[in-house]
Amino acid sequence: MARIVQKFGGTSIADVERIKAAAQRVKREVDAGNEVAVAVSAMAGVTDELDGHASEVSALHDAREYDVVVSAGEQVTAGLLAMALQDVGVAARSWLGWQIPISTDGAHGRARINDIGTQELERRLGRGEVAVVAGFQGVGTDGRVTTFGRGGTDTTAVALAAALGAERCDIYTDVDGVYTSDPRIVAAARKLNKITFEEMLEMASVGAKVLQTRAVELAMKRGVRLQVLSSFNDTPGTLVVNEDEIVEQETVSGVAYSRDEAKITLTRVADRPGVAASIFGPLAEAGINVDMIVQNVTADGSTTDLTFTVTMGDLERAVGILEGQRQTLGFDDLVSDPNVVKVAVVGVGMRSHAGVAQRMFQTLAEKGINIQVISTSEIKVSVLIAEEYTELAVRALHTAYGLDAD
Ligand code: ADP
Ligand code: ASP
Ligand code: MG
Repeated sequence: MARIVQKFGGTSIADVERIKAAAQRVKREVDAGNEVAVAVSAMAGVTDELDGHASEVSALHDAREYDVVVSAGEQVTAGLLAMALQDVGVAARSWLGWQIPISTDGAHGRARINDIGTQELERRLGRGEVAVVAGFQGVGTDGRVTTFGRGGTDTTAVALAAALGAERCDIYTDVDGVYTSDPRIVAAARKLNKITFEEMLEMASVGAKVLQTRAVELAMKRGVRLQVLSSFNDTPGTLVVNEDEIVEQETVSGVAYSRDEAKITLTRVADRPGVAASIFGPLAEAGINVDMIVQNVTADGSTTDLTFTVTMGDLERAVGILEGQRQTLGFDDLVSDPNVVKVAVVGVGMRSHAGVAQRMFQTLAEKGINIQVISTSEIKVSVLIAEEYTELAVRALHTAYGLDAD
C-alpha cells in the first residue's frame, strides 16, 4: 500500500466524459490498495473565461476579488470528480483550499503556500476516502481566497504530496510526458524517460508549461517523486529525478520558448553609479520582474542604452512607471516591443561541454535570425529574437543539437 497524489489538468477533465475517465484512473489506484489524494484544475478554457470576465468588468481590478472569480472553476471540477467517484463506488469528498486549509501568504494572484493542515485529510485517507482537492487556491493571511498563478494546480499537487509524505505525485495531462521541446510546434520532439529537476526547472521557467515552475522548485526542495503522464493513454510518462539517477547525460536535453516576453529599451541614460538601481528599484517595488538585461556604452562613454525584458502582462505598467520618472532618470527615449520571444536550450551536460552557446548562435545566424539579447546560466543559454521566427528557431535548434526523433 502506498500513498499517492494524482493531478488532472484542464484537458484531462474538460467535460463530464473526461471526468468519468479520470474517476476510473483514481479508482484503479484505490483498488490497488493505495491511499489517494487528487488535485484538480478547472475544465479546459474555464479559467481563461473567468479571467476575461474580470478584465471586462474592470481593467485594474481588486486582486482579492480577482482570486474569488478565477478560483471558481476548480470548485466545480472538485465536486464533479467526487460525485463521479462516489458513483463508481469509491468513497470521496471534495475540499476547497480554505477547508483544508491550504494557508498562504497574502500575495493575491501569486500566493505562496505556508502550511497545509493534514490532520483531517490523513484521518480520512486512512479509512479509504479519496480527497479531491480544488487546485490553484488557498486561503491568505487575510482569511480570503488566494490563487497561485496560472498552472497553479501543479503546485497544489506537489505541495499536497510533500505535506502528506506521498510516495509519488502523478501529473496527468494531455501529452504523455516531458518532450525535448513542445510537441505542438516541434513534430520531431522526443519524449524523455527521465529529466533532472534542474533541467525541468529551467525548461519550465522559459515557457515549457507542462509543469508550473514553482511546482518543480517545490518538488526539488522537498524530494517529491514527480511523474508526468497522459490521462488519454497508458504509455509510460517522464520521471523528474535527481542528476545521479541519469546515467548518460545529453549535452542539451531540450529547447524551450516563451512568448510571454516584452522588450523595453531606454536610450542615452546617464552612465554613472546608481543609475541601474534607480531604474530597476521602482519596477521591483511595483512587483515587476525584470528578466534579461543588456547595457551598451555609447561612443563617448557618458551615456548608455539599457535594454531589458518583462512579461507581457507587466509591460504597460513598467512603461507607465518609467515614463513617470523620465525627468529623474534622464533618458532620451523609451522604446517598447511586445513582438519578441525568448528561446532557450537547456542541459546539465553544458557544465562539462564547451561550444554549446556557439552552436546556438551559429544555427540562428544560418537561418538569418538576429539575436537581440543573450543571457546564460550554468545549464541554459537564452536568446531574445523577433517573435515571427519562433517556430523556425526552435525547430532549427532542436535539429542542431541532435534532438530530433529518428
Ligand atoms: P494541463 O492543463 O494538463 O496542466 P498544460 O497545457 O498546462 O496542461 O501543459 C501541457 C502542455 O504543455 C502540452 O499540451 C504541450 O503543448 C506543452 N508543452 C510545452 N513544452 C513542452 C515539453 N517540453 N514537453 C511536453 N509538453 C510541453
Ligand atoms: N485552472 C488554473 C489555470 O488554468 C490552474 C491550473 O489549471 O493549473 O491556470
Ligand atoms: Mg498546466
